[in-house]
Amino acid sequence: PVRTRIAPSPTGFLHLGTARTALFSWAYARHYGGEFVLRIEDTDVARSTQDSVDQILQAMRWLGLDYDEGPIYQMRRLDRYREVIAQMLAAGTAYRCYATPAELDEMREAQRARGEKTHYDRRWRPEPGKVLPPPPEGVAPAIRFANPVDGVVTWDDLVKGPISIANREIDDLIIVRPDGVPTYNFAVVVDDWDMNITHVFRGDEHVNNTPWQINIFNALGAPLPLFGHVPVILGDDGQKLSKRRGAVSVTAYEEGGYLPEAMLNYLARLGWSHGDDELFSRRELVEWFDGEHLSKSPAQWDPAKLSWVNAHYIKQADNERLGALAAVQLGKRGIEAPNDALMQRRVALLKDRCATTVELADWLAMYFTEPTPSEADAAQLTDAIKPVLKALADAFEALPTWDKAAIGAAFKQVLHAHGLKMPQLAMPVRVAVCGRAQTPSVDAVLELFTRSIVLKRLRDL
Ligand code: GLU
Repeated sequence: PVRTRIAPSPTGFLHLGTARTALFSWAYARHYGGEFVLRIEDTDVARSTQDSVDQILQAMRWLGLDYDEGPIYQMRRLDRYREVIAQMLAAGTAYRCYATPAELDEMREAQRARGEKTHYDRRWRPEPGKVLPPPPEGVAPAIRFANPVDGVVTWDDLVKGPISIANREIDDLIIVRPDGVPTYNFAVVVDDWDMNITHVFRGDEHVNNTPWQINIFNALGAPLPLFGHVPVILGDDGQKLSKRRGAVSVTAYEEGGYLPEAMLNYLARLGWSHGDDELFSRRELVEWFDGEHLSKSPAQWDPAKLSWVNAHYIKQADNERLGALAAVQLGKRGIEAPNDALMQRRVALLKDRCATTVELADWLAMYFTEPTPSEADAAQLTDAIKPVLKALADAFEALPTWDKAAIGAAFKQVLHAHGLKMPQLAMPVRVAVCGRAQTPSVDAVLELFTRSIVLKRLRDL
């Protein structure tokens, strides 16, 4: 059966690139009725934090990337790595290297001086006919993988197609550091083997690690998974997407008012396509994601398109759900707004104009806080119109009911009395009550205000 995994290092938030790889791995497993595993690669003890693990788990949950196994923590598997290392040492596929950092520096310096590419010269690798010095006292050894000296490593990448690297280009990699902690390239192989991973999707930046990993798989007699290296995501400046160029964490988009189904849809289209389809559901994604049509070239992060996708899902979303999300956004501004029936009517009126729930909250705020029109909009509140606004307030006050029809009737009456046309009055009313000149139809907006607030805003100018 298909088994895929995502293996984030908990050294920060869930990066968009990792989220996209997780999404591909998840969708692939779901498409083929397989399983998806979450592994936490926390062997960089100094930089790994529980806080980061929590953020990653929360972001996965938010995106709806459910996993069948995990989270599995590498640091809880040290005994297993030790066991494999012992086997490799016994089999001669790994060896202890006592070279100190100073010695290795010296070695590389000499190589540079000779105009060679720097590499580990295998000084501690046992070889037939070679006499090794006795291990120096007080030096904790690193353990290195005895990489094959000749031959070629080849694999058919699920994204990039066939790739080959000659073994002579590859060093004897450190697989356990002197402090006893295994390195990424070793632990990842033991884990992918033990967890029966069949398909490894990961970022492009790991493509140079794969030859080592394949050699280690072979040294262990473990079956090889298939590998697919997904191209990077570029920012709109053509540079790798990075924090300096805007939000790159999934959490930032959750907080920024994006819906998870929009993120999922947008991320899936970064480096994968299904004909011309831009909008599709989670179910369709799973149905379509068969590992074909993965792009070889970098994907471009496009905030405008993401907004468009999000706006689409906001239009479709349930008003009660949007009301709850908007209430959270309003709460961040110190506005306490219950998600009641009135809130949901307001949401229904305004959601078509919003690309995010933050924008929705921008709109909804007019029902709770004093208007602060721009200077240009405020210019509509002329001395000539103010008495008309007061007259409108009086007409509103006299209404037996407060609804769209009654509001419309009051408008008509005041327009007639002052010889004005609707836009001449509707604009200043919008500015006075809503704080902006562009809104949905004025009777529909006003109806959802408390009448006394409308009266006050029309009179206190
Ligand atoms: N911990 C690695 C990363 O976050 C995992 C790479 C892999 O999937 O093998 O980049």
